[in-house]
Amino acid sequence: MRDVPEIFGSLVFNDDVMSARLPREIYKSLHKTIEEGKALDITVANAVAAAMKDWAIEKGATHYTHWFQPLTGITAEKHDSFLTPQSDGRIIMEFSGKELIKGEPDASSFPSGGLRETFEARGYTAWDPTSYAFIKDDSLCIPTIFCSFGGEVLDKKTPLLRSMEAVNAKAVRLLKLMGDDQVTRVNTTVGPEQEYFLVDKETYKKRRDLVITGRTLFGAKPPKGQELDDHYFGVIKPRVMAFMQELNIELWKLGVYAKTEHNEAAPAQHELAPVFATANIAADHNQLTMEIMKKVADKHGLACLLHEKPFAGVNGSGKHNNWSLSTNYGKNLFKPGKKPQDNKTFLVCLCAVLEAVDISQDLLRITSASAGNDHRLGAAEAPPAIISVFLGDELTEILDAIEKGEHGENKKAETVVTGVDVLPDFKKDTTDRNRTSPLAFTGNKFEFRMLGSSFSIADVNTVINTAVADVFDRLADRLEMAENIEEELDKWMSQTVTAHKRIIFNGNNYTQDWVNEAHRRGLYELKTTADAVPHFVNEKNIELFTKHKIFTKSEIASRCEIMLDSYCKVLHIEALTMLEMAKKEIMPAVLSYTNEVANGVKLKQDIGIIAEGDATLKLCTRLTDLYNKLYRRTDALEATVAGLSSTNDSLEASSYCRDKLVPAMTKLRSVADELETIVAEKYWPYPNYSELLFNV
Ligand code: ADP
Ligand code: MG
Repeated sequence: MRDVPEIFGSLVFNDDVMSARLPREIYKSLHKTIEEGKALDITVANAVAAAMKDWAIEKGATHYTHWFQPLTGITAEKHDSFLTPQSDGRIIMEFSGKELIKGEPDASSFPSGGLRETFEARGYTAWDPTSYAFIKDDSLCIPTIFCSFGGEVLDKKTPLLRSMEAVNAKAVRLLKLMGDDQVTRVNTTVGPEQEYFLVDKETYKKRRDLVITGRTLFGAKPPKGQELDDHYFGVIKPRVMAFMQELNIELWKLGVYAKTEHNEAAPAQHELAPVFATANIAADHNQLTMEIMKKVADKHGLACLLHEKPFAGVNGSGKHNNWSLSTNYGKNLFKPGKKPQDNKTFLVCLCAVLEAVDISQDLLRITSASAGNDHRLGAAEAPPAIISVFLGDELTEILDAIEKGEHGENKKAETVVTGVDVLPDFKKDTTDRNRTSPLAFTGNKFEFRMLGSSFSIADVNTVINTAVADVFDRLADRLEMAENIEEELDKWMSQTVTAHKRIIFNGNNYTQDWVNEAHRRGLYELKTTADAVPHFVNEKNIELFTKHKIFTKSEIASRCEIMLDSYCKVLHIEALTMLEMAKKEIMPAVLSYTNEVANGVKLKQDIGIIAEGDATLKLCTRLTDLYNKLYRRTDALEATVAGLSSTNDSLEASSYCRDKLVPAMTKLRSVADELETIVAEKYWPYPNYSELLFNV
């Protein structure tokens, strides 16, 4: 057994290391920056940089890099060595405060959604001292934000940090008005659960679709899928166990609190959950987790698939974003306690989330939108593309009472209290039932389940924080004008429940009944990325983001543009890959097999044993029919792909992809998959689903 406490954080320039290595005064002023957002002095930066460099070199690092999260959704880094040549031909290892604080990568190849022309290539990265520096691949990695020469935000981290500040400021303001005199800060806490698939690397390499697009574009359903539910929480196989053990150790070294791991519902599917952390750190750690997962898998002869839907007909992978707010003195604002009906802070915060979610349904949906996730949402395995909140019957009853102005000592509330008194049990009992909800209250936090497995968690937390900050802010305005704070709060809660209870749904979200009900309630159903993303630029959303200084109007437009563009690009690449596979692999395979069968028919004819209804002849005819169909559909897809180039408008292009390209791909796939079930295995050009899913 390894010494976990010894390993944990050993590659992180954390508080421990800082307090041991930085001069007292420097350490104190760095803390001021971290905790109070005070501007950083260059002398402090110089001292921190020097200490960081010495520490990193002791750990074997030779380079440093600013590590940031551009709008591609993954991380970016550009490595520079510490090397500084001297006049006598020797070198010294140097790293200045200036280099720590600011970097200037050439930004022209990162998506900017029209915010920046290529000739204005300059971009800046700036140190985020609230997330610790760490060592990865012999480089000192410094978490940074990323913006353009003109100051426009080009990353996912900056808006997240801004939204954390917004919800902090508004929550503190509100809590103070409600009589909390201890509160100085409210933190966003997040724990993302990460799902993934592991498949054998050699098998994986034989599938061009997996290698190029991350998912199978063809593939007939295997005889055994997940029907037997024998994988979920099942015994972990030795090869997977070895992978998980090494993954944990690598993550612990980086200070990631990897905690829970288990098999998921689908064969070859697994999950990793960390202990929650402050939102920006959780976002950094989740990016690291995804990266390290891929690397460690590779070392074990495995491929880690983070795509939302690697296999049709088998559950896809998501990411559950557990979100909560907690004060400087450690109070979780969403902890109901033994008597939730007396816990005003909890009830007010709960109502605020309901209002925020109802108003920002479209934005929350957008944070989960991508070509990959379109296959999951609404596919009876992940929540539908309709946002709603699960509260459980007990809390819903409390809110019903509040709406009627009845909460307090009355009988009904008391029976309700008994139910919630045993909240841990209540939570357990209902977990199964509410697994279908996109946003479930799970005891002391909200669990958002729509995110795709490959997503950055930055966007969804930016939206939740901002939307909740806005409700807090408006409520605080109201309280400031009120004569009696308590009465005003009760009135506000009652009104809020009335106005926004339509967002609560405690039933099974996977049913058609719910979809119909949601339509009756007037909730958004934004089925695809092409339907959802254009709502980003809705007037109310621009108002929300600009009011809280999260995005400017042009930053919102650019993000909308980037998302639509990436949706089209992904589908375009997938379509091209399908064409290549159909023409170069599947068709030749079908032809070869048809030839063999046709030869068999001819042989039978030659020796005169063929009778009417001969099975070989039937097979030959069926193969030929399907081959012709395959040919026609390949042609049709090719023509559809060509049609895509006729527009430069991303909105138009995304509708075209949704309405024309995706259906053409689906049609081609269905005939190829049918062929896969009748062509002899030795002719089929790539490993099938059974080999992929049951091979590890
Ligand atoms: P599940 O029942 O969904 O498996 P768990 O209780 O294991 O959920 O928790 C899931 C995630 O929620 C973990 O990452 C955990 O750290 C996180 N979590 C727990 N409490 C909070 C909180 N107050 N704020 C944010 N995340 C939290
Ligand atoms: Mg969960």
